[in-house]
Amino acid sequence: AVALGDRSYDILIGPDLIATAGARIAQLAPGASVFIVTDAHVGALWLAPLEASLEQAGIRHDRLILPAGESTKTFAHFQQLCEAALEARMERGDLLVALGGGVIGDLTGFAAASLRRGMNFVQIPTTVLSQVDSSVGGKTGVNTAQGKNLVGAFHQPALVLADTGSLATLPPREFAAGYAEMVKYGLIDRPDFFDWLEKHWPAVFGRGPELEHAIAVSCEAKAAVVARDETEQGDRALLNLGHTFGHALEKIVGYDSSRLVHGEGVAVGVACAFRFSAREGFCPPEAAERVEAHLRAVGLPTRIPEVLPTGVDAKEILDAMAQDKKVKRGALTFILARDIGQSFIAKNVDVEKVRSFLEDELRNGA
Ligand code: NAD
Ligand code: ZN
Repeated sequence: AVALGDRSYDILIGPDLIATAGARIAQLAPGASVFIVTDAHVGALWLAPLEASLEQAGIRHDRLILPAGESTKTFAHFQQLCEAALEARMERGDLLVALGGGVIGDLTGFAAASLRRGMNFVQIPTTVLSQVDSSVGGKTGVNTAQGKNLVGAFHQPALVLADTGSLATLPPREFAAGYAEMVKYGLIDRPDFFDWLEKHWPAVFGRGPELEHAIAVSCEAKAAVVARDETEQGDRALLNLGHTFGHALEKIVGYDSSRLVHGEGVAVGVACAFRFSAREGFCPPEAAERVEAHLRAVGLPTRIPEVLPTGVDAKEILDAMAQDKKVKRGALTFILARDIGQSFIAKNVDVEKVRSFLEDELRNGA
Protein backbone atom coordinates (compact mmCIF):
# COMPACT_ATOMS: atom_id res chain seq x y z
CA ALA A 1 0.00 0.00 0.00
CA VAL A 2 1.04 3.60 -0.53
CA ALA A 3 0.54 5.53 2.69
CA LEU A 4 -0.75 9.01 1.87
CA GLY A 5 -3.33 9.57 4.59
CA ASP A 6 -6.89 9.48 3.22
CA ARG A 7 -5.52 9.12 -0.30
CA SER A 8 -3.76 5.85 0.52
CA TYR A 9 -4.37 3.02 -1.89
CA ASP A 10 -3.46 -0.58 -2.56
CA ILE A 11 -1.03 -1.89 -5.11
CA LEU A 12 -1.84 -5.51 -5.87
CA ILE A 13 0.79 -7.59 -7.63
CA GLY A 14 0.06 -11.01 -9.06
CA PRO A 15 -0.45 -13.18 -12.09
CA ASP A 16 -4.21 -13.01 -12.76
CA LEU A 17 -5.31 -9.53 -11.82
CA ILE A 18 -6.78 -8.53 -15.18
CA ALA A 19 -9.06 -11.55 -15.28
CA THR A 20 -10.31 -10.77 -11.77
CA ALA A 21 -10.38 -6.96 -12.03
CA GLY A 22 -14.18 -6.76 -12.27
CA ALA A 23 -14.82 -8.08 -8.77
CA ARG A 24 -12.18 -5.80 -7.26
CA ILE A 25 -13.51 -2.74 -9.05
CA ALA A 26 -17.07 -3.54 -8.01
CA GLN A 27 -15.86 -3.70 -4.42
CA LEU A 28 -13.91 -0.45 -4.73
CA ALA A 29 -16.75 1.56 -6.28
CA PRO A 30 -20.10 -0.24 -6.06
CA GLY A 31 -22.43 0.75 -8.89
CA ALA A 32 -19.82 2.82 -10.74
CA SER A 33 -19.38 2.66 -14.49
CA VAL A 34 -15.93 2.18 -15.99
CA PHE A 35 -14.22 3.88 -18.90
CA ILE A 36 -11.20 1.90 -20.10
CA VAL A 37 -8.35 3.62 -21.90
CA THR A 38 -5.75 1.46 -23.64
CA ASP A 39 -3.43 1.49 -26.65
CA ALA A 40 -3.61 -0.58 -29.82
CA HIS A 41 -0.91 -3.10 -28.79
CA VAL A 42 -2.24 -3.74 -25.31
CA GLY A 43 -5.85 -3.53 -26.44
CA ALA A 44 -5.36 -6.37 -28.91
CA LEU A 45 -3.92 -8.59 -26.15
CA TRP A 46 -5.54 -7.66 -22.84
CA LEU A 47 -8.77 -5.73 -23.45
CA ALA A 48 -10.92 -8.83 -23.99
CA PRO A 49 -10.12 -10.48 -20.63
CA LEU A 50 -10.59 -7.17 -18.81
CA GLU A 51 -13.96 -6.55 -20.46
CA ALA A 52 -15.05 -10.10 -19.78
CA SER A 53 -14.30 -9.68 -16.10
CA LEU A 54 -16.21 -6.36 -15.93
CA GLU A 55 -19.07 -8.06 -17.74
CA GLN A 56 -19.08 -10.85 -15.19
CA ALA A 57 -19.18 -8.35 -12.34
CA GLY A 58 -22.12 -6.57 -14.00
CA ILE A 59 -20.22 -3.30 -14.47
CA ARG A 60 -21.30 -0.91 -17.23
CA HIS A 61 -18.21 -0.11 -19.32
CA ASP A 62 -17.02 1.68 -22.39
CA ARG A 63 -13.54 2.14 -23.86
CA LEU A 64 -11.14 4.12 -25.99
CA ILE A 65 -8.23 2.58 -27.90
CA LEU A 66 -5.44 5.05 -28.67
CA PRO A 67 -2.37 4.58 -30.87
CA ALA A 68 0.66 3.05 -29.08
CA GLY A 69 3.75 5.15 -28.39
CA GLU A 70 5.04 8.26 -26.63
CA SER A 71 3.42 10.54 -29.23
CA THR A 72 0.03 9.64 -27.75
CA LYS A 73 0.83 11.61 -24.56
CA THR A 74 -0.37 14.91 -26.04
CA PHE A 75 -3.01 17.60 -25.56
CA ALA A 76 -4.76 16.29 -28.65
CA HIS A 77 -5.25 12.82 -27.17
CA PHE A 78 -6.04 14.31 -23.76
CA GLN A 79 -8.93 16.17 -25.39
CA GLN A 80 -10.01 13.10 -27.31
CA LEU A 81 -9.98 11.04 -24.11
CA CYS A 82 -11.95 13.61 -22.07
CA GLU A 83 -14.59 14.02 -24.75
CA ALA A 84 -14.92 10.29 -25.30
CA ALA A 85 -15.44 9.71 -21.56
CA LEU A 86 -18.06 12.46 -21.39
CA GLU A 87 -19.71 11.11 -24.52
CA ALA A 88 -19.89 7.72 -22.75
CA ARG A 89 -21.75 9.55 -19.91
CA MET A 90 -19.08 9.04 -17.28
CA GLU A 91 -20.10 10.88 -14.09
CA ARG A 92 -17.95 12.13 -11.25
CA GLY A 93 -18.36 8.91 -9.26
CA ASP A 94 -17.42 6.68 -12.17
CA LEU A 95 -13.96 5.29 -12.82
CA LEU A 96 -11.34 5.67 -15.49
CA VAL A 97 -9.20 2.58 -15.96
CA ALA A 98 -5.76 2.87 -17.56
CA LEU A 99 -4.83 -0.44 -19.22
CA GLY A 100 -1.31 -0.19 -20.61
CA GLY A 101 2.15 1.22 -20.06
CA GLY A 102 3.27 4.56 -18.69
CA VAL A 103 1.97 6.48 -21.68
CA ILE A 104 -1.61 5.35 -21.13
CA GLY A 105 -1.26 5.65 -17.34
CA ASP A 106 0.07 9.22 -17.41
CA LEU A 107 -2.50 10.40 -19.96
CA THR A 108 -5.46 8.69 -18.30
CA GLY A 109 -4.38 9.86 -14.85
CA PHE A 110 -4.23 13.45 -16.07
CA ALA A 111 -7.67 13.13 -17.64
CA ALA A 112 -8.95 11.68 -14.34
CA ALA A 113 -7.46 14.65 -12.47
CA SER A 114 -9.30 17.08 -14.73
CA LEU A 115 -12.53 15.43 -15.82
CA ARG A 116 -15.42 16.77 -13.75
CA ARG A 117 -12.66 18.36 -11.61
CA GLY A 118 -11.41 15.00 -10.46
CA MET A 119 -12.54 11.42 -11.00
CA ASN A 120 -11.15 8.27 -9.47
CA PHE A 121 -8.99 6.06 -11.60
CA VAL A 122 -7.51 2.59 -11.51
CA GLN A 123 -4.12 1.76 -12.96
CA ILE A 124 -3.64 -1.59 -14.67
CA PRO A 125 0.00 -1.24 -15.71
CA THR A 126 1.19 -3.76 -18.33
CA THR A 127 4.89 -2.89 -18.69
CA VAL A 128 7.65 -3.48 -16.15
CA LEU A 129 8.33 0.25 -16.18
CA SER A 130 4.75 1.17 -15.40
CA GLN A 131 4.40 -1.55 -12.76
CA VAL A 132 7.47 -0.48 -10.81
CA ASP A 133 7.51 3.21 -11.53
CA SER A 134 4.87 5.27 -13.33
CA SER A 135 1.78 3.67 -11.74
CA VAL A 136 3.11 4.41 -8.24
CA GLY A 137 3.30 7.95 -6.95
CA GLY A 138 0.55 9.90 -8.63
CA LYS A 139 2.42 11.90 -11.24
CA THR A 140 0.27 12.32 -14.33
CA GLY A 141 0.58 14.49 -17.40
CA VAL A 142 1.24 15.06 -21.07
CA ASN A 143 4.18 16.18 -23.19
CA THR A 144 4.34 19.53 -24.99
CA ALA A 145 6.46 20.94 -27.80
CA GLN A 146 8.70 22.39 -25.08
CA GLY A 147 9.50 19.05 -23.46
CA LYS A 148 8.26 15.93 -21.73
CA ASN A 149 5.87 15.91 -18.78
CA LEU A 150 5.73 19.70 -18.48
CA VAL A 151 1.96 19.83 -18.02
CA GLY A 152 0.33 17.59 -15.48
CA ALA A 153 -1.06 17.05 -12.02
CA PHE A 154 -0.46 14.99 -8.93
CA HIS A 155 -3.44 12.65 -8.84
CA GLN A 156 -3.26 9.35 -6.96
CA PRO A 157 -5.04 6.28 -8.32
CA ALA A 158 -7.68 4.56 -6.19
CA LEU A 159 -6.14 1.15 -6.89
CA VAL A 160 -3.23 -0.34 -8.82
CA LEU A 161 -3.50 -3.83 -10.31
CA ALA A 162 -0.06 -4.92 -11.50
CA ASP A 163 -0.80 -8.13 -13.41
CA THR A 164 2.55 -9.89 -13.82
CA GLY A 165 0.92 -12.30 -16.28
CA SER A 166 0.45 -9.41 -18.69
CA LEU A 167 4.24 -9.10 -18.93
CA ALA A 168 4.33 -12.39 -20.87
CA THR A 169 3.52 -10.47 -24.05
CA LEU A 170 5.85 -7.53 -23.40
CA PRO A 171 8.64 -7.30 -26.04
CA PRO A 172 12.04 -8.32 -24.52
CA ARG A 173 13.53 -4.89 -25.12
CA GLU A 174 10.73 -3.19 -23.15
CA PHE A 175 11.17 -5.76 -20.39
CA ALA A 176 14.90 -5.04 -20.06
CA ALA A 177 14.27 -1.29 -20.14
CA GLY A 178 11.88 -1.58 -17.20
CA TYR A 179 14.39 -3.78 -15.40
CA ALA A 180 16.79 -0.81 -15.42
CA GLU A 181 14.36 1.02 -13.10
CA MET A 182 14.37 -1.94 -10.69
CA VAL A 183 18.16 -1.86 -10.61
CA LYS A 184 17.85 1.87 -9.90
CA TYR A 185 15.92 1.21 -6.66
CA GLY A 186 18.67 -1.13 -5.48
CA LEU A 187 21.24 1.53 -6.23
CA ILE A 188 19.35 4.31 -4.47
CA ASP A 189 18.92 2.79 -1.03
CA ARG A 190 18.45 -1.00 -1.19
CA PRO A 191 21.89 -2.61 -1.52
CA ASP A 192 20.51 -6.03 -0.53
CA PHE A 193 18.04 -5.84 -3.39
CA PHE A 194 20.88 -5.08 -5.82
CA ASP A 195 22.74 -8.16 -4.51
CA TRP A 196 19.56 -10.17 -4.97
CA LEU A 197 19.10 -8.96 -8.55
CA GLU A 198 22.69 -9.85 -9.39
CA LYS A 199 21.89 -13.42 -8.31
CA HIS A 200 18.33 -13.85 -9.50
CA TRP A 201 18.05 -11.81 -12.69
CA PRO A 202 17.83 -14.89 -14.95
CA ALA A 203 14.71 -16.05 -13.08
CA VAL A 204 13.28 -12.53 -13.17
CA PHE A 205 13.75 -12.38 -16.94
CA GLY A 206 12.33 -15.91 -17.16
CA ARG A 207 9.10 -14.50 -15.66
CA GLY A 208 9.34 -16.84 -12.67
CA PRO A 209 7.89 -16.12 -9.22
CA GLU A 210 11.06 -14.06 -8.65
CA LEU A 211 9.59 -11.47 -11.02
CA GLU A 212 6.72 -10.83 -8.62
CA HIS A 213 9.17 -10.40 -5.77
CA ALA A 214 11.31 -7.97 -7.77
CA ILE A 215 8.25 -5.90 -8.70
CA ALA A 216 6.98 -5.90 -5.12
CA VAL A 217 10.30 -4.71 -3.69
CA SER A 218 10.55 -2.05 -6.39
CA CYS A 219 7.03 -0.72 -5.73
CA GLU A 220 7.76 -0.70 -2.02
CA ALA A 221 10.99 1.20 -2.63
CA LYS A 222 9.22 3.81 -4.73
CA ALA A 223 6.20 4.04 -2.42
CA ALA A 224 8.49 4.60 0.57
CA VAL A 225 10.19 7.55 -1.10
CA VAL A 226 6.87 8.97 -2.32
CA ALA A 227 5.27 8.67 1.12
CA ARG A 228 8.22 10.63 2.53
CA ASP A 229 8.00 13.37 -0.07
CA GLU A 230 4.89 13.26 -2.26
CA THR A 231 5.46 16.48 -4.21
CA GLU A 232 9.24 16.35 -4.63
CA GLN A 233 10.42 18.95 -2.14
CA GLY A 234 13.46 16.83 -1.26
CA ASP A 235 14.03 13.09 -1.11
CA ARG A 236 11.80 12.20 -4.06
CA ALA A 237 14.58 13.62 -6.26
CA LEU A 238 16.59 10.46 -5.44
CA LEU A 239 14.30 8.63 -7.85
CA ASN A 240 15.97 10.65 -10.60
CA LEU A 241 19.19 8.64 -10.20
CA GLY A 242 20.49 8.19 -13.75
CA HIS A 243 17.76 10.39 -15.18
CA THR A 244 19.65 13.67 -15.69
CA PHE A 245 22.05 11.89 -18.03
CA GLY A 246 19.30 9.62 -19.36
CA HIS A 247 16.85 12.39 -20.21
CA ALA A 248 19.55 14.36 -22.00
CA LEU A 249 20.34 11.33 -24.17
CA GLU A 250 16.64 10.73 -24.86
CA LYS A 251 16.17 14.36 -25.79
CA ILE A 252 19.02 14.24 -28.31
CA VAL A 253 17.94 10.93 -29.82
CA GLY A 254 14.23 11.84 -29.90
CA TYR A 255 11.49 10.48 -27.65
CA ASP A 256 9.74 8.34 -30.17
CA SER A 257 12.87 6.83 -31.60
CA SER A 258 13.55 3.11 -31.81
CA ARG A 259 17.19 3.95 -31.16
CA LEU A 260 16.70 4.47 -27.42
CA VAL A 261 13.84 3.69 -25.07
CA HIS A 262 13.58 5.40 -21.68
CA GLY A 263 14.91 2.55 -19.54
CA GLU A 264 17.95 2.18 -21.79
CA GLY A 265 18.69 5.87 -21.24
CA VAL A 266 18.34 5.22 -17.51
CA ALA A 267 20.77 2.28 -17.72
CA VAL A 268 23.41 4.46 -19.38
CA GLY A 269 22.50 7.24 -16.94
CA VAL A 270 23.01 5.20 -13.75
CA ALA A 271 26.27 3.81 -15.12
CA CYS A 272 27.38 7.42 -15.82
CA ALA A 273 26.24 8.60 -12.38
CA PHE A 274 28.40 5.90 -10.76
CA ARG A 275 31.41 6.51 -13.02
CA PHE A 276 31.14 10.25 -12.37
CA SER A 277 30.81 9.59 -8.62
CA ALA A 278 33.94 7.41 -8.70
CA ARG A 279 35.85 9.99 -10.74
CA GLU A 280 34.97 12.71 -8.24
CA GLY A 281 36.08 10.50 -5.35
CA PHE A 282 32.63 9.98 -3.82
CA CYS A 283 32.42 6.27 -4.46
CA PRO A 284 34.86 3.34 -4.90
CA PRO A 285 35.57 2.50 -8.57
CA GLU A 286 34.65 -1.14 -7.83
CA ALA A 287 31.06 -0.06 -7.18
CA ALA A 288 30.84 1.64 -10.58
CA GLU A 289 32.33 -1.46 -12.21
CA ARG A 290 29.82 -3.73 -10.50
CA VAL A 291 26.88 -1.60 -11.61
CA GLU A 292 28.12 -1.61 -15.19
CA ALA A 293 28.80 -5.35 -15.17
CA HIS A 294 25.27 -6.13 -14.01
CA LEU A 295 23.58 -3.88 -16.54
CA ARG A 296 25.68 -5.39 -19.32
CA ALA A 297 24.90 -8.93 -18.12
CA VAL A 298 21.20 -8.35 -18.75
CA GLY A 299 21.87 -6.76 -22.13
CA LEU A 300 21.43 -3.09 -21.28
CA PRO A 301 23.67 -0.34 -22.66
CA THR A 302 26.00 1.49 -20.24
CA ARG A 303 28.03 3.84 -22.44
CA ILE A 304 26.98 7.08 -24.08
CA PRO A 305 28.47 6.32 -27.52
CA GLU A 306 26.39 3.13 -27.68
CA VAL A 307 23.15 5.06 -27.76
CA LEU A 308 23.98 8.38 -29.45
CA PRO A 309 24.52 8.94 -33.15
CA THR A 310 28.15 9.83 -33.96
CA GLY A 311 29.09 13.50 -34.00
CA VAL A 312 27.25 14.53 -30.83
CA ASP A 313 29.59 16.51 -28.57
CA ALA A 314 29.72 17.23 -24.82
CA LYS A 315 28.21 20.68 -25.31
CA GLU A 316 25.12 19.25 -26.94
CA ILE A 317 24.62 16.86 -24.01
CA LEU A 318 25.17 19.67 -21.47
CA ASP A 319 22.67 21.89 -23.30
CA ALA A 320 20.13 19.07 -23.21
CA MET A 321 20.75 18.70 -19.45
CA ALA A 322 20.40 22.44 -18.89
CA GLN A 323 16.89 22.35 -20.38
CA ASP A 324 15.88 19.59 -18.03
CA LYS A 325 13.44 20.70 -15.37
CA LYS A 326 15.83 19.54 -12.62
CA VAL A 327 18.12 22.45 -13.39
CA LYS A 328 17.78 25.48 -11.14
CA ARG A 329 19.47 28.80 -12.03
CA GLY A 330 22.26 27.28 -14.05
CA ALA A 331 23.53 24.90 -11.36
CA LEU A 332 23.29 21.21 -12.12
CA THR A 333 21.68 19.00 -9.52
CA PHE A 334 22.73 15.38 -9.82
CA ILE A 335 21.97 12.23 -7.92
CA LEU A 336 25.36 10.75 -7.12
CA ALA A 337 26.43 7.76 -5.03
CA ARG A 338 28.78 6.97 -2.17
CA ASP A 339 28.34 3.28 -2.87
CA ILE A 340 25.76 0.79 -4.10
CA GLY A 341 22.56 1.62 -2.21
CA GLN A 342 23.93 4.95 -0.95
CA SER A 343 22.75 7.64 -3.33
CA PHE A 344 22.54 11.29 -2.42
CA ILE A 345 21.40 14.60 -3.88
CA ALA A 346 24.37 16.69 -5.05
CA LYS A 347 23.42 20.31 -5.61
CA ASN A 348 25.61 22.81 -7.47
CA VAL A 349 27.65 20.25 -9.37
CA ASP A 350 30.35 22.08 -11.30
CA VAL A 351 29.37 22.12 -14.96
CA GLU A 352 33.03 22.05 -16.04
CA LYS A 353 33.59 18.77 -14.21
CA VAL A 354 30.60 17.28 -15.99
CA ARG A 355 31.88 18.64 -19.31
CA SER A 356 35.27 17.01 -18.93
CA PHE A 357 33.62 13.76 -17.81
CA LEU A 358 31.40 13.77 -20.91
CA GLU A 359 34.35 14.52 -23.17
CA ASP A 360 36.21 11.50 -21.79
CA GLU A 361 33.11 9.34 -22.07
CA LEU A 362 32.70 10.30 -25.72
CA ARG A 363 36.42 9.80 -26.40
CA ASN A 364 36.74 6.41 -24.71
CA GLY A 365 33.79 4.96 -26.58
CA ALA A 366 31.91 1.80 -25.86
P1 NAD B 1 4.60 2.65 -23.15
O1 NAD B 1 3.37 2.91 -22.42
O2 NAD B 1 4.79 3.39 -24.43
O3 NAD B 1 4.72 1.09 -23.46
C1 NAD B 1 5.82 0.61 -24.20
C2 NAD B 1 5.37 -0.23 -25.39
O4 NAD B 1 4.96 -1.52 -24.94
C3 NAD B 1 4.18 0.33 -26.16
O5 NAD B 1 4.35 0.08 -27.52
C4 NAD B 1 3.01 -0.50 -25.63
O6 NAD B 1 1.95 -0.56 -26.55
C5 NAD B 1 3.65 -1.83 -25.42
N1 NAD B 1 3.04 -2.67 -24.38
C6 NAD B 1 2.66 -2.27 -23.15
N2 NAD B 1 2.28 -3.33 -22.42
C7 NAD B 1 2.39 -4.41 -23.21
C8 NAD B 1 2.15 -5.80 -23.01
N3 NAD B 1 1.77 -6.29 -21.83
N4 NAD B 1 2.35 -6.63 -24.06
C9 NAD B 1 2.79 -6.14 -25.26
N5 NAD B 1 3.06 -4.85 -25.49
C10 NAD B 1 2.86 -4.00 -24.47
O7 NAD B 1 5.92 2.94 -22.29
P2 NAD B 1 6.31 2.67 -20.77
O8 NAD B 1 7.74 2.38 -20.84
O9 NAD B 1 5.40 1.75 -20.07
O10 NAD B 1 6.09 4.11 -20.12
C11 NAD B 1 6.81 5.23 -20.56
C12 NAD B 1 6.08 6.47 -20.14
O11 NAD B 1 5.97 6.48 -18.71
C13 NAD B 1 6.79 7.76 -20.51
O12 NAD B 1 5.85 8.64 -21.09
C14 NAD B 1 7.27 8.31 -19.19
O13 NAD B 1 7.31 9.72 -19.18
C15 NAD B 1 6.25 7.80 -18.25
N6 NAD B 1 6.70 7.71 -16.86
C16 NAD B 1 5.92 8.26 -15.91
C17 NAD B 1 6.28 8.20 -14.58
C18 NAD B 1 5.38 8.74 -13.53
O14 NAD B 1 5.79 8.83 -12.36
N7 NAD B 1 4.17 9.11 -13.86
C19 NAD B 1 7.46 7.56 -14.20
C20 NAD B 1 8.24 7.00 -15.20
C21 NAD B 1 7.85 7.08 -16.52
ZN1 ZN C 1 12.55 6.47 -15.38
